[in-house]
Amino acid sequence: MTSETNKPTVILGAGLAGLTAANFLRSKNVPVILYEAGNKIAGLAQSFHDTDGFTYDFGAHFVTNRLAEKIGVMDKCRTVKHYAETVWLGGKSYGYPFGLMRVPRMTASGVAAQLKSFGSHAKPESAADWFRASYGAALADEVAIPLTDAWSGAKAADLSAAVGGGISSGIARTLWLKMASRLTNRAVSCGYSRELPEKASVYHVYPEGGIGTLCQKLAEGLNGTVKLESPVEAILVEDGKVAGVRVSGKIQEASAVISTAPVHVLGKIVEGTSRLAHLQKFRYRPMIFVNLRFEGRGLLPDVVTWTPENEFPFFRLTETPLSMPWLAPKGKTLITADIGCEKDDEFWQMDDETVGELCVENLKPLIPNAKDLYMGCRVLRTPIAYPVFLREYETERQSFAEGTGIENLHSVGRNGEFQHIFMEDVHHRTLRKMRELASIFQ
Ligand SMILES: Cc1cc2nc3c(=O)[nH]c(=O)nc-3n(C[C@H](O)[C@H](O)[C@H](O)COP(=O)(O)OP(=O)(O)OC[C@H]3O[C@@H](n4cnc5c(N)ncnc54)[C@H](O)[C@@H]3O)c2cc1C
Repeated sequence: MTSETNKPTVILGAGLAGLTAANFLRSKNVPVILYEAGNKIAGLAQSFHDTDGFTYDFGAHFVTNRLAEKIGVMDKCRTVKHYAETVWLGGKSYGYPFGLMRVPRMTASGVAAQLKSFGSHAKPESAADWFRASYGAALADEVAIPLTDAWSGAKAADLSAAVGGGISSGIARTLWLKMASRLTNRAVSCGYSRELPEKASVYHVYPEGGIGTLCQKLAEGLNGTVKLESPVEAILVEDGKVAGVRVSGKIQEASAVISTAPVHVLGKIVEGTSRLAHLQKFRYRPMIFVNLRFEGRGLLPDVVTWTPENEFPFFRLTETPLSMPWLAPKGKTLITADIGCEKDDEFWQMDDETVGELCVENLKPLIPNAKDLYMGCRVLRTPIAYPVFLREYETERQSFAEGTGIENLHSVGRNGEFQHIFMEDVHHRTLRKMRELASIFQ
């Protein structure tokens, strides 16, 4: 890369990834301009507070003490003492994963799958194959595959086996981390970091003021650098190399461009080459988060309840106050129902009140008196919750993971990398990329 340091590095997006990049580059005296399409910072890492004392997070609820320390907000964080998941199946709840292992048919088919895998070099072709080979047919067909269908909006048979690889955690490690949780009385993080080791000393915390506190800290000192309500309309490429961007019809030259925009947007806005045009077909799953307010607390079997049976409109329920009691007033609680949908389908178009009532009606098997306790809802919608790893573009996805192929153009962050990664990994991976970039400039 030629070092044209008089031109700024342009960053698209003021979520965790964009702010991590801007913060780091500024600390290395690299000139930066960050354009954010929306009217506030934090992207998916936002929390909302209502006048009745409830706090709703946009997606992320659980961050680690290690990330909070790294960003410098640990002194503003409270320790999360408890976190556990259950699966609701046939009218009963089973602890995940160990409760399910006590169901004889799950154990038997799990053992059979493990025995079959010894000495076999066959690679699973799809997510469905991966689940059956790793968990056994019973757990795969009754739990993992229906849940995958629901969150992705595609059949697990049409998804890449990489979906499974991304969520696997060894049983021994999971058992150890769960035991460590009990011994330390802290919610030891399990399955939230892949870049850094998971261990007993890494646990969940929640910042006062909400998840957005992390982004606010990163944005300190970036005055004048962050331009809100400034969607980047085009990334201009000349001779295979980034030359600048166009924002509100004006050209801004750039020595490098860091995009955190979803890749189907990136594919659309790159001008001067068709190299990334194929990214336009990459799909994200839209999601509705229905935040239901109730009288009482401890209404669900545990913090997260997965509902794989297709009689439910939602596939996951989270009673966040069981982990973070401060998210709801005393004696009240909040249950977030996650509904996978398509933009403009019947769920997406439902008004908030109707979607709330639909969820309450369907909560009856888990909470028989849900209707009597219900106090209304607040609904959040996003068109880009989960990257969908369709097999039809798996080769292109793997190739994009190696880089954009355009000099000085980098795509980072959860949607920018098209990866199922959590905030700690987003931060870590973005910093790694920025260190490489800064070393080239210096
Ligand atoms: C349902 C759900 C639950 C999650 N739970 C957790 C959790 O418990 N713990 C955890 O650690 N993580 C969790 N995550 C992941 C976490 O929320 C994300 O990894 C993180 O917030 C992603 O940050 P980002 O900066 O990569 O992307 P984003 O937050 O999406 O930021 C991208 C920004 O780019 C802007 N933008 C887009 N296009 C343009 C353009 N053309 N010009 C300018 N700006 C543009 C957008 O407006 C946005 O602000 C969850 C995510 C989801 C969806």
